[in-house]
Amino acid sequence: MIYTIYKAKVYMNTEKTLSAIDLFINDFEKYYESINSYILDGNIKGLVILNSLLPNELSCIEIEASHNTINLMNIEGSNGIVEYFISPKTNKDNIAVMDELRCRCTKEFPNSRFMNYRAFNYNMPFLKEIEHKALKITVPYDAIGYQGSISYNDKCKPLLNIIIVVKKPYCDKILIKKRVVFNNGEDNNSKKTSERMVWFQNKNNIVDLYLLNAIGEYNLTNHVGYIEILPEDAEVIVDGSVFTELADLRNEIKIIEKRMNYKYCAYCQALDIVMPINKYENKYYCSDLCNTLDNQVQEQEVQVQEEQVQEEQVQQEQVQQEQVQEEQVQEVQVQQEQVQEEQTNQ
Ligand SMILES: [Zn+2]
Repeated sequence: MIYTIYKAKVYMNTEKTLSAIDLFINDFEKYYESINSYILDGNIKGLVILNSLLPNELSCIEIEASHNTINLMNIEGSNGIVEYFISPKTNKDNIAVMDELRCRCTKEFPNSRFMNYRAFNYNMPFLKEIEHKALKITVPYDAIGYQGSISYNDKCKPLLNIIIVVKKPYCDKILIKKRVVFNNGEDNNSKKTSERMVWFQNKNNIVDLYLLNAIGEYNLTNHVGYIEILPEDAEVIVDGSVFTELADLRNEIKIIEKRMNYKYCAYCQALDIVMPINKYENKYYCSDLCNTLDNQVQEQEVQVQEEQVQEEQVQQEQVQQEQVQEEQVQEVQVQQEQVQEEQTNQ
């Protein structure tokens, strides 16, 4: 099979997309209460209904949800909150639609949290294994290794390039080799192409799932340059090459986030990039909710401190009073002793 890969760019057909979003918001409004209560009950039905409301024009989007969390964490104020995660399906071309949809949802349903990209948090545990029922295979975490390198694009943005290596017993089932023709632009009015054999995931997305688990959809969509998948015995792998476990990908992507100088929400640590930033006293928040909650927590802390100070004052006063009483008692004793002494002397 021969594939031709173009540097494709799909522009958002604004009018069509906007009316599709209108349609979706309208339907979502009708079912909002029941969808929310299903999700709060941990019932998958809520998400099934929600995703079925997405019209064909929005099939480039998928929605996930989490309940009683803020940025996937069970923290002060997260009880009763439903978080919706709007995914562009790891495709840069869908980011504009995702942004618009989230903007509208945030406006229309202020009691829920709407976040861009699939749910991800650096505290998320690593997947131990992934079972693919149709392929009748379970791929363990250590069946996949990687080698990473950081490069910079023409806008000086750092990108992580990843070579994935799959251990032998799993390659035959999850990988397939195809001839790919690359379009390298035009030269003297004739198309320049090159071709080579490339490994793909065969009717599964096990490698993608491991990558999503390791670095999240935001990073996978925005900070990864290229991903090349190879079986561990591929000829192009030079002897002595070192491949590390996927957990190290998180550390490498954190280096990129540092170089991007990202700010994180002062309350839930969400990346600012996912929401418009509000800057209060040099602090950044991902949402009004986080700003309000952070202020509440701070007020509570101040109150607790004030109460502590008051308690200490009361204790000090008590100690002082006791000292004064003791001194008075001692004085009386001394006086009595003096009187007794005088009496004996007489
Ligand atoms: Zn936040």
